Amino acid sequence: MRVFNFSPGPAVLPLEVLQQVRDELTDWQGRGMSVMEVGHRSKAFVACAAEAEADLRALLGIPANYKVLFLQGGATGQFAALPLNLTTPKSVVDYINTGHWSKKALTEAQRYCQVNVAADGASSDYHDVPALPSWQLSRGAAYLHYTPNETIGGVEFPFVPQVEAPLVADMSSTILSRPVDISRFALIYAGAQKNIGPAGLCVIIVREDLLGRARPETPTVLNYKLVADEGSMLNTPPTFAWYVAGLVFKWLQRQGGVVRMGERNRAKAEKLYGAIDETDFYRNPVARSGRSWMNVPFTLARPELDKSFIAEAREAGLVNLEGHRSVGGMRASLYNAMPPEGVDVLVGFMREFARRNG
Ligand SMILES: *Cc1c(COP(=O)(O)O)cnc(C)c1O
Repeated sequence: MRVFNFSPGPAVLPLEVLQQVRDELTDWQGRGMSVMEVGHRSKAFVACAAEAEADLRALLGIPANYKVLFLQGGATGQFAALPLNLTTPKSVVDYINTGHWSKKALTEAQRYCQVNVAADGASSDYHDVPALPSWQLSRGAAYLHYTPNETIGGVEFPFVPQVEAPLVADMSSTILSRPVDISRFALIYAGAQKNIGPAGLCVIIVREDLLGRARPETPTVLNYKLVADEGSMLNTPPTFAWYVAGLVFKWLQRQGGVVRMGERNRAKAEKLYGAIDETDFYRNPVARSGRSWMNVPFTLARPELDKSFIAEAREAGLVNLEGHRSVGGMRASLYNAMPPEGVDVLVGFMREFARRNG
């Protein structure tokens, strides 16, 4: 039996996609073998990979002067790849610190170049996005990095920053959840495990003029230009993850694309925040304008009930609602593949739980 899986990542995948994977697992395209068993340079796999890229380009409206790369090492690999590809040791880069993941990204960058934390959410305890006019931007920054959606804190930017420096975004937990104007960005990266597919894969969307600036010591597999020149097949790519990502892109197209997804995700999030706000029994600490559509942390007014909330939710088929170990409480992740019915069942459970324990 399928449960409603609110995991922050690796996260729920569309059932239709999993069923297709199952159906094709031992015999892909009538070849008598699994997609996992075919060569990455075979005509069949190259076509499958190219189709995934084309579908992603169509879904996000990626302009022709951007390359799409399919790399390994997750989003975390990009925390280092970015400065290696785009800076010298003397370069200054601006980072916006809105919580756990932006802190990780900037801490890694500090090993390679001069990091200016242009804004820090500490004064709101990372429960809000620092207002753009307060940012202390560096003149001539090699790039500005931000995390549009903080997966752990549940803080999401309601705007795309307008800055002079090339804009870089870690979109791991928000990519494909709503429309976005790619041309505003120099580079976008996203670990696959939230909204794209199996963990390990990372998708990078990079404007072509940023290629070819890597430091000489950049590992070959992290060098954007070398990877782009080889169509992300400089070495053996994560073929199975790439294939599954392609199936997810097809599924998104069948759902009506990112516009429809955005409407659906907004409605899901509003329903859950509504249930949290309607009672003092639950609480979400994030400023309203910065509330994430994808990750909704909440606490109980009586934390001694946390354990029974989690246990009873599991009984009701609602799993992985535990908050991050650094935050406690609960967190419901509502990625694209979480059907609206999952949120309906969760909200029904929450109301019932509050009634019985309030
Ligand atoms: C999950 C996540 C990461 C890390 O992804 P890995 O695939 O584990 O490297 C980085 N940034 C954000 C915003 C995330 O949600």
